[in-house]
Parts: sequence; structure tokens; C-alpha cells
Amino acid sequence: MKKTRIGIVGYGNLGKGVEAGLKHSPDLELTGIFTRRQPDQLETLSPAYSIDKLIDFKNSIDVLILCGGSQKDIPLQAPELAQTFNTVDTYDNHNEIPVHFERLDKVAKENKTVAVLSTGWDPGLFSLNRLIAEAIMPKGETYTFWGPGLSQGHSDAVRRVKGVKNAAQYTVPKKERVDKVKDKQPIHYNKKEAHKRVVYLVLEEGADESKVKEAIISMPDYFQGYETKITILDQDTLDKDHQGMPHGGTVIRQGKTTDENTAIYQFGLDLDSNPEFTAAVTIAYARAAARLAKERQYGAKTVFDIAPGYLSPESPEDLRRKLL
Ligand code: NDP
Repeated sequence: MKKTRIGIVGYGNLGKGVEAGLKHSPDLELTGIFTRRQPDQLETLSPAYSIDKLIDFKNSIDVLILCGGSQKDIPLQAPELAQTFNTVDTYDNHNEIPVHFERLDKVAKENKTVAVLSTGWDPGLFSLNRLIAEAIMPKGETYTFWGPGLSQGHSDAVRRVKGVKNAAQYTVPKKERVDKVKDKQPIHYNKKEAHKRVVYLVLEEGADESKVKEAIISMPDYFQGYETKITILDQDTLDKDHQGMPHGGTVIRQGKTTDENTAIYQFGLDLDSNPEFTAAVTIAYARAAARLAKERQYGAKTVFDIAPGYLSPESPEDLRRKLL
């Protein structure tokens, strides 16, 4: 069977994860990695090219997996590339997803391409599980807990504080809240009350520890209102103990099946590597994008629009026999 040909756009954590993850999918093959940087300066395992050359690969790539950042790269790259290629992205700016969808849908329909957006785990698999849980149990409450996991954005925010040399920030759900939800008890939920922020940092020489701590805990949006624990470390310990990118979390719905009975629906992830797992999800959706394009089901699609069978390399007959 002819393999589906994949291109990777952007070679950060996610791009590396896709390159590695494709090795587990014999039905897919990597045509190349496309970057805005000098391709020969990247330590890729596969052929790398300047993004300016991408158009030359129009007929040798079936789906592009877009691995740029959600803040600045995807809003520009996705609509532009969807003019020519089928695409998959992991756009995670939740509030802006409807706008991103509309923009992509227009471009993809006009150009007869498929643009799958906001895959990954949240948005992505968590969204899908929230939907299923709420569809089958319309009466109830859904809770999402994130972590324990390294937050890249919050680690960056701490690193920008004057006096901080290096830092890692973990988001940790409060166990007593998670346990209460699983135990079918009602809780008052908001994101700030349900999570803690745990910071490990290395101070610049001569930095004022109490000023640094105050600057962190009073940071609006990022830390203000959160229970925050700050630990000062030396660089060697930070390098040794805080190099990985673990993450995960749980979606839990307390659903009423009758007025008397409650059902707990939960979906959880515990990831050693957030980018590698996110990449694994994009790869499955790239397979789906290729199939949808073959069927001429053009336009923008989210995880809500794609039937699960499209994600699998197995035939519908095999899936019915093995997994139903
Ligand atoms: P990175 O910051 O590692 O990479 C983003 C882009 O920056 C790359 O594609 C690359 O583009 C460029 N870049 C990477 N490293 C360097 C460097 N050293 N110097 C200059 N440029 C560099 O981001 P991630 O790969 O970690 O994450 C990408 C996005 O994935 C995130 O913005 C996040 O929104 C999303 N995400 C979504 C999840 C979900 O569940 N939906 C989960 C996790 C992440 P180029 O090669 O063109 O220079």
C-alpha cells in the first residue's frame, strides 16, 4: 500500500516529537522537515529544507504537520499553508479557536484542502472526552485538572523576573479536590483554587531572594491568586532534576444517570514527555487528514468532526473484529 507522505513545519520540541513518532507508523513516511532557520544548522535525523522550498514539494507531501508556536506562528502559517497543503496543527489558544477555525475553513474550502486544527491533548483528546461525557450525561458537572506537569509559559515568565537565572514551573492539581470529585462530592471549582504552582529557580548572583519571590507571586494572570511554592536551587540540581517535559491531567464528569445515581466518567493522561505525546496525536490526525482529502471532505475539521476510525492504520473490518 502506498504510504502517506508527511512534511513537518517547524523543528522545536513538537517537530522533534513528530520526527521521532513517525517511526512507529509504517503506513506514513517523512518527506522532510521545513524550517525558517538555516536547515543545515539543525540537528535533524531526516532531510531538512528551508521553508521557502516547501512549495517545490507540493506533489510529494500529502499532509503537513504544523509544529510552530500557537501564539505567533500558527495564526500566520496555518491559513497560508492550507492554500496548498492538507494540514494538521495543535493550536492551543482556546479562546481564539473559533476564529482560527473560520479562517482555515474558508481557505481550505476555496482551495480544496483539509485543515485539521487544535489536535493534541488539550485542546484535543481532553476536548473529545469532555464532549462524549457531556453528550451521554447531559446533567452533571465536568472538571478538568491539569498536571502535575511542566508549564513552558510559566517557566518562561519566571525566567524573565529580575534576579532569576533559570527556572522550571510545575502546575499541580490539588489532590483533595480531585479526590472529592472522584468521590462524587460537589466542589466549588475554579482553575486557581484547584491548582498549585510549584517553582524551582536558580538566583542570579547577588539577587534579593525575597524581592524575587514577591515579584513571582504577585504576577497577574500567571501566579496571583494561586497557592505558589518557590524553592531555590543551584544550576546543577535544576539541570539534573528538571530537564524533562512531563505533563498530563484528568477530565472528570460527575454525571447524573437518574436523580438518585451518579456516574463518574474520567479520562486521564500521565505523560513523561508532553511534546512527544502531542506529536503522537498529530500523527494519527495526519492519517485522518489524508483520508478525508481522498474523500474530498474539504474544509477545517476539529477532533469533534473526525470519526475515530479515521485515526487508525487498521481497516474498518479489522477494527470491528479486534477492538469493538
Ligand atoms: P517550540 O518553542 O519548541 O517551537 C516552536 C517553533 O519555534 C518551532 O517550530 C521552530 O520553528 C522555532 N524554534 C524552535 N527552537 C528554536 C530555536 N532554538 N531557535 C529559534 N527558533 C526555534 O514550541 P513547542 O514545539 O514546544 O510547541 C509548539 C506548540 O505546540 C506550542 O505553541 C503549543 O501551543 C502547542 N502545544 C499544544 C498542545 C495541545 O495539547 N494541543 C500540547 C503541547 C503543545 P522553525 O524551525 O521554523 O524555526
